[in-house]
Amino acid sequence: MSHADLLARHRAVMPGWLALYYDQPIEIVRGSGRRVVDGEGRSYLDLFGGILTNAIGYDIAEISDAVRRQLDTGVVHTSTLYLIEAQVRLAERIAKLSNIPDAKVFFTNSGTEANETALMLASQYRRSNQVLAMRNSYHGRAFATVGVTGIRGWSASSLTPVNVSYAQGSYRYRSPFRDLSDADYIRACADDLREVIETTTAGDVACLIAEPIQGVGGFAVPPKGMFRAFKEILDEYGILFVSDEVQTGWGRTGEYFWGIDAHGVVPDVMTFAKGLANGLAIGGVVARGDVMDSLHAQSISTFGGNPVATTAADAALDYLFEHDLQANAAKQGTRLLAGLRSVAERNPVVGDVRGMGLMVAVELVHPDGTPRPDAATRVLEEARARGVLVGKGGLYGNVIRIAPPMTITDEEVEEALGVLDEAISAAQEEVG
Ligand code: PLP
Repeated sequence: MSHADLLARHRAVMPGWLALYYDQPIEIVRGSGRRVVDGEGRSYLDLFGGILTNAIGYDIAEISDAVRRQLDTGVVHTSTLYLIEAQVRLAERIAKLSNIPDAKVFFTNSGTEANETALMLASQYRRSNQVLAMRNSYHGRAFATVGVTGIRGWSASSLTPVNVSYAQGSYRYRSPFRDLSDADYIRACADDLREVIETTTAGDVACLIAEPIQGVGGFAVPPKGMFRAFKEILDEYGILFVSDEVQTGWGRTGEYFWGIDAHGVVPDVMTFAKGLANGLAIGGVVARGDVMDSLHAQSISTFGGNPVATTAADAALDYLFEHDLQANAAKQGTRLLAGLRSVAERNPVVGDVRGMGLMVAVELVHPDGTPRPDAATRVLEEARARGVLVGKGGLYGNVIRIAPPMTITDEEVEEALGVLDEAISAAQEEVG
C-alpha cells in the first residue's frame, strides 16, 4: 500500500483534530536504538523518542525479553480484581522513589487518566472542585484535564467539571517578570499566586497542578526553587500540590530524578506516564496515603497496572539505573544546550534556547520577539529532510522540542547538532 493511500485512509476515518506532524506524515515501521525507519525505507534519528515515550530507545532486548516472558505465561491481562505480582513490585518501587511519606500508587494507562485521578482525589480530599493550574500548561485530553490545560490550542472545552484559576511563573521567556533576578522573579510569581488564591477563588481550593518543566508548552523551565515558594503558600491554605511528572520523571532532566526535585520540595501527589515502560501504555498516581485513601467509593482501572505494562516498566527502570541514564541525560543535555546556543548566535530567528537534561527547546521569533510558528514548521521539515525527527510545541506552536531517548550517544548528539544547525540556518534564510 502506498504512503498516499494510507494518509487518505487516515484522513477518512480518523478525526481532523488528531494532530499529525509534517506535510507528508511519516509511518514508522521499525526502530533500533535511537533510529527509526519509515515505510519507504528512510532512516531517521529520533530526537523526540516517540513523544518522550521511548525513554530508553527502540528494540531494547532486556525490555522485550521481559515482556516476551510475560506473554509466554499466557497472561496478558487478568484485571485488577486479582493480585498481580509485577504490579505490586512496581508500586513498591515507585512509592519508594517518590519520597512522598506513606506513599500509595494507583496505575492507569495514560497521563490523562493519571491527572484525572489526581484531580478527583484532590477534589474529594478537600471537598472542592476549585483547582489552580499554571498558564501555558498541558495536562491531558479528558474532561477535567482539558479544563486545567492553560494552552488555548489544546484546551478545546470550556465546559469542564473543575473551576480553574491560572497562576503564572512557568513560562519565564514571555513573563512580564522575566528580567528580574531569579529570587525577585520567584517572589513576584509567589505574590501573584497568593493574589490569585485570595481574589479569584472562593478560598476552598483543592490543589495546584503543575508541570515542573512544561512539556507541550515548549519545555518552559521556571527558576529552581519557584515551586518550593509556591508550596509554602499552598500549605498555609491547606491546598494540595500535584506535580505532573508525565514528561519530567525518571531522570529525564538529568540533574534530578523527578522534575520537582529541582525545587527542593516534595509534592503531595505526583502523576507519571510516558517513558516509564519505554513505550508501552502505562501511567499512574503516587500520593500521600491519606490523600489516596480519601475516595469513599470503590474504584478500578480495568487495564491499569496490567501484567505486561508493569513488567515492561520494571525492566525499563532496571535498565535506567543499571546504565545510569540520568547521568547521560545530564551530560548530553548540556552538550545540546551549548551547541544550540552557538547556533542561536548566528541565527536571530532563535529567540531562546532553554532546557534541562534531555528536554531542550529552541523558541523561534520575529525580530521584535513575537512568535514565529512558520519557522518552527520549516525547521521540522528541514530536519526531517536531513534524517532527524524533532518535536514542536509551545503556546504559539513556535518552539522546537528535543527530547531523545536517554541512551543517546556522543556521536548522535554531534550528528543532531549538525543537522539542527543546517535546519535552523535554512529556516533563517527562508524567513529572513
Ligand atoms: N501531562 C503532561 C505533562 C503531558 O505532557 C501529557 C501528554 O503529552 C499528558 C499529561 C497527557 O498524557 P497522555 O497523552 O498519556 O494522556
